[in-house]
Amino acid sequence: MFSIVTGGAGFIGSHLVDTLVEQGDRVLVLDSLRTGDLANIRGHLDAGRIDYLQADLLEDGWQERFEGAERVYHLAADPDVRGSAATPADVYENNVTATIRVLEAMRVHGVGEIVFTSTSTVYGEASVIPTPEDYSPMEPISVYAASKLAAEAMISSYAHTYGMKARVFRFANIIGERSNHGVIWDFAHKLKENPAELEILGDGKQIKSYLIVSECVAALLHAVRAADGPFACFNIGSEDWIDVTAIARIVADEMGLPDVRFRYTGGDRGWVGDVPRMQLAVEKIGATGWHTTVGSEESVRQAARALVREIC
Ligand code: NAD
Repeated sequence: MFSIVTGGAGFIGSHLVDTLVEQGDRVLVLDSLRTGDLANIRGHLDAGRIDYLQADLLEDGWQERFEGAERVYHLAADPDVRGSAATPADVYENNVTATIRVLEAMRVHGVGEIVFTSTSTVYGEASVIPTPEDYSPMEPISVYAASKLAAEAMISSYAHTYGMKARVFRFANIIGERSNHGVIWDFAHKLKENPAELEILGDGKQIKSYLIVSECVAALLHAVRAADGPFACFNIGSEDWIDVTAIARIVADEMGLPDVRFRYTGGDRGWVGDVPRMQLAVEKIGATGWHTTVGSEESVRQAARALVREIC
């Protein structure tokens, strides 16, 4: 199969590329390198196993490369929930306008299937936890979440109007090797800077679900094979959760810093747009036959170990 991966030089995208190459797909990675890094796909590039085009989806010049493709994995986005409050118009452009431009290129060049990486944050501060895919009302509380929900809506409209297949995945916190943001990354970098004290945003009691990236990619590809109909949406996450203080302990432990002091900034959430509790219901993807055996704590442990290896 000829697949295009937008954002394929990023954290999750590069792991997806690893698996697509392994299963024998012809892969074109399209990435602006805004937050991605060629080092993440260097092995495939050097070995000639993938095609690569450095391009910004907000500019022209890449659309004709869609000719002949069968599926687009659209991961390119600005993924920073916290930062999205500072640059709402940019986030809209990069996450919504760029998605519409991808859909248009697909329509013009006859590409039949889009796989889109959405987020648990579209549910806002959900009153039902674990939160199922049909939860309502959808009331995003961050600009990032709103942009992803808007993109989902445009994707649904294209699927139903132009006869495409759309597979949308709402991820919990995905963590692991090559990650370039998020709580584990933040803690590890702060501890590298100051091994004596760690600032923790909020009261440390925020509880969320975390999943290691290899399981996320396996779940996504499993559900893509299992789904039918023009539009299908699945949550992807682990079946449990972990609080922020426990994450801090694991990161400190992996860095060999058992005596570090924790300093909390206070409040029940880390930043505007954060939620104190998040866990996704995973029965729908479970019904397709996919189950993870890796829980949040083990995912955090594996991710912290990989990150410490990378940065220390
Ligand atoms: P990432 O920043 O590592 O990857 C995003 C990639 O997209 C980068 O390589 C970046 O250079 C590229 N990109 C951004 N804007 C672009 C543009 N205009 N044109 C071309 N390329 C562009 O982030 P990630 O964590 O790997 O996230 C991948 C996807 O998964 C995103 O859509 C994100 O919203 C979604 N997601 C991530 C998580 C998570 O926990 N990491 C959770 C929910 C959803």
